[in-house]
Amino acid sequence: MPGIFTYKFDTPVYKGESSFSTGLFINGEFVDGSNKTTIDIINPSNGKLLTKISEGTPTDIDIAVKAARHAFDTSWGLKVSGSKRGLLLNKLADLIEENFDELAALEALDNGKTFSWAKKVDVQDAVDIIRYYAGWADKIHGSTIETTEDKLVYVRNEPVGVVGQIIPWNFPIMMIAWKLGPALATGNTVVLKPSELTPLTALRMAELINEAGFPLGVVNIVIGYGNTVGQAISEHMDIEKVAFTGSTLVGRKIMEASATTNLKKVTLELGGKSPNIIFDDANLEQAVAWAAHGIFWNHGQSCSAGSRIMVQEGIYEEFLKLFTEKAKAIKVGDPFDPETFQGPQISQIQYDRIMGYIESGKSQGATVHYGGHRIGTKGYFISPTIFTNTQQKMRIVQEEIFGPVAVIVKFKHEDDAIQKANDTTYGLASAVFSQNINRAITVAHRLKAGTAWINCVQHFNPNVPFGGYKQSGIGRELGKYALDNYTNVKAVHVNLGHRQ
Ligand code: NAD
Repeated sequence: MPGIFTYKFDTPVYKGESSFSTGLFINGEFVDGSNKTTIDIINPSNGKLLTKISEGTPTDIDIAVKAARHAFDTSWGLKVSGSKRGLLLNKLADLIEENFDELAALEALDNGKTFSWAKKVDVQDAVDIIRYYAGWADKIHGSTIETTEDKLVYVRNEPVGVVGQIIPWNFPIMMIAWKLGPALATGNTVVLKPSELTPLTALRMAELINEAGFPLGVVNIVIGYGNTVGQAISEHMDIEKVAFTGSTLVGRKIMEASATTNLKKVTLELGGKSPNIIFDDANLEQAVAWAAHGIFWNHGQSCSAGSRIMVQEGIYEEFLKLFTEKAKAIKVGDPFDPETFQGPQISQIQYDRIMGYIESGKSQGATVHYGGHRIGTKGYFISPTIFTNTQQKMRIVQEEIFGPVAVIVKFKHEDDAIQKANDTTYGLASAVFSQNINRAITVAHRLKAGTAWINCVQHFNPNVPFGGYKQSGIGRELGKYALDNYTNVKAVHVNLGHRQ
């Protein structure tokens, strides 16, 4: 029998109790992993053990895929109407809303993000996205194509089948919604692997999925390590599509696994090193506020973090002064303190990785203008950090740090800004700050990135596509674009004539 996680929240912003199974969620039931082993879940705010959860294995992936295949063939896929799928998704969104604060509190506890931002963004986004895709569920249809009068041709958009979804720890519940919404709306069944670092909201969501009334086996959630369970999903011969969000390194492994097994469809949402370009005609106060939000929100653990802040030379000193004041004003600490903006990094490994980047920046000759150190003695808190005197070739300018580390890059003119901005292997997001709208739009069009924000950053909408150029990914999530990832197109030719 799997264990039960019980936790009493007694915080200034939320009081309540959570209690749910720590098992794997397969065919609508919570079960032990086949090896009966567990994974330690650590509270990033103090480094202490929070709970133990069942560890999945490749055998469990096999069992989950069988359940998902059976559900697809008997009670989902083309066996139910789109409107029924939409009703269930809407019911799930309602249940997330009914348990809104509890889910935000679990996210703050498990991930370290602040309770207030978890409410404002993560849980709200989960509700909005599930509702958005509920609306699509009965609008998945093909078309007829005119050829000749003795022929009828029509195109169907059929569900792919059993899909595997592998998600990271930086936005746990939001990533569940991004992945489940389009997959379920289009009639697929799912085997989902949350990050082994942040499984709590996934387990609570599993309960809500049952409560909403989804048929058994439509959604299966198997928690486990990447090199076992994640790899098993990527290699499985009966999984027809895999969707992944995480590092570029693992994205490559997933493509390789697909290439050497059943050529399952692959979509990847990977890392970034997104530039925020601030021209000398920008509203400086606004640009400072947005740039600080772009890098320091979620503790810099966002694939679209504006980690390269590019400032035109004429306003450089003034920008740096105001930006430093903003960084100094950020309250780092307890995610349940309403004043806190920045909580801990997710894990010891990520803490060490970020501190390693800070050391590399120093040793390659950049200047730590502000921060660069640990905060407190327990948990994984790092001061907001600003690097100046940077060069294009430095690792801190080229590589994804995934922490609260802003790298300031000076530029001379538009072409210089665009050349520097595009000079990375990534191409996920970008931002331009200028009050000259012609310039802002022209520059946005010249940036090699899947998203370009103008005079803002970190905006996401359920109906707007998101994804990367270059090594930031393959395919688009959100909006109607995501539906294409989860459907196969079939052309049906009907002969109405006679063969001579
Ligand atoms: P990761 O890519 O290793 O992990 C993401 C998910 O992939 C997790 O569920 C993990 O268990 C799984 N995974 C790991 N190895 C796998 C494998 N061989 N096959 C299949 N699945 C596997 O990311 P991480 O270690 O958690 O973080 C490392 C770096 O990745 C970060 O510093 C950051 O640069 C980047 N990252 C990016 C995002 C993003 O949103 N783009 C999210 C998390 C991490």
